[in-house]
Amino acid sequence: MAVRLVVFGRQGAGKGTQCVRLSEHYGAPHISTGDMLREAIAEGTDFGRKAKEYTEAGKLLPDDIMLGLIEDRLNKPDVLEHGFLLDGFPRTVGQAEALAGLVTIDRAINIEVPEELVMERMMARNRSDDTPEAITTRLDAYATKTLLAVAYFDSLGLLTTVDGVGDMDEVTGRLIEAIDGVVAAS
Ligand code: AMP
Repeated sequence: MAVRLVVFGRQGAGKGTQCVRLSEHYGAPHISTGDMLREAIAEGTDFGRKAKEYTEAGKLLPDDIMLGLIEDRLNKPDVLEHGFLLDGFPRTVGQAEALAGLVTIDRAINIEVPEELVMERMMARNRSDDTPEAITTRLDAYATKTLLAVAYFDSLGLLTTVDGVGDMDEVTGRLIEAIDGVVAAS
């Protein structure tokens, strides 16, 4: 079964870890735009240098750049055969609308963890773009932009919210149960 899922969750909600697990479970590629950008940064390309400025500040890259990146990836044979788990994309309504025009989305999953809890997790993560200023800017971008993308999928009747508080395994179990319930039924 090919699943085509978008996974939302504010930074520190455990989204990346859960996506790796779900990707193994469903046999669908895990597509993380953050990872793609970090690879470009590590390669030191012109694009990577530009991406570094944005990510270090915790700012979102422009929609058109992100769309180009994701469109290429969604056309790869593994995606066409096995579907995808999108992690970190879309982050704005513009990206969400463009995505919905490109591919069929089976479901958008929102891993819900309150802001107070994610702050603690973030500080323990030790990533180079995890300065307090960048964390605050990213949480703000989530609240003002990404939550509108979440609402967009809700308006399409495609949103499932899953409680992301608790033990990692427990949350993985909840996610699989929620996804199987809605995707198998559709
Ligand atoms: P992440 O690993 O998903 O937290 O992404 C790390 C950083 O990459 C973000 O803070 C943004 O600066 C940038 N980024 C990743 N995905 C997107 C996106 N869909 N739109 C704009 N910027 C993005």
